[in-house]
Amino acid sequence: MVAHRRRNWKQAISRFLLLDLLKGMIVTFKWQAPSKCYTVQYPKVRPRIGERFRGAPRLNRDPETGESLCIACNLCAVACPENLITVTEEVREYLDEASGKVKKKRFLADYLYDTSRCMFCGYCQDVCPTYAIELTQEFELAIYRRRAFAWTWEMLENGIDQPVYTR
Ligand code: SF4
Ligand code: SF4
Repeated sequence: MVAHRRRNWKQAISRFLLLDLLKGMIVTFKWQAPSKCYTVQYPKVRPRIGERFRGAPRLNRDPETGESLCIACNLCAVACPENLITVTEEVREYLDEASGKVKKKRFLADYLYDTSRCMFCGYCQDVCPTYAIELTQEFELAIYRRRAFAWTWEMLENGIDQPVYTR
């Protein structure tokens, strides 16, 4: 009985002095040192992205010639479940150096990609025979103007301007 009363007193004093709260705060502040901070400090520090992450689209160029790898075959547009890719082609004549003859070939005239409707499923890059369209690891796609969601050929090749934050 006496022990029980003593325990009740201890509990009452502890509650009155907020001892449990103080204990909790001590633990919290003990882990506040920057060296013990586990929260990703984005945007100052960019998080590590998973290898298979699919983000912003890019239309690749041939590293040797600098020309677009896209052959305007339209496969990506057909494969896209959202119908958000528009490929415009044009047939041009060119001189085939090997045979010396003038031949006709399909070239890319325009490419439009509506990122606002993309679900980053990756079908477009999977079907591309030349690895022209690729979903990169870039994840910062937020913009202020709705119209800017439609990426032109130039934007797809050069990327969009995003502020670079440093620590
Ligand atoms: S990632 Fe999917 S939804 Fe987006 S453009 Fe490619 S096929 Fe369409
Ligand atoms: S990006 Fe690839 S799949 Fe799409 S039109 Fe160009 S070559 Fe064809």
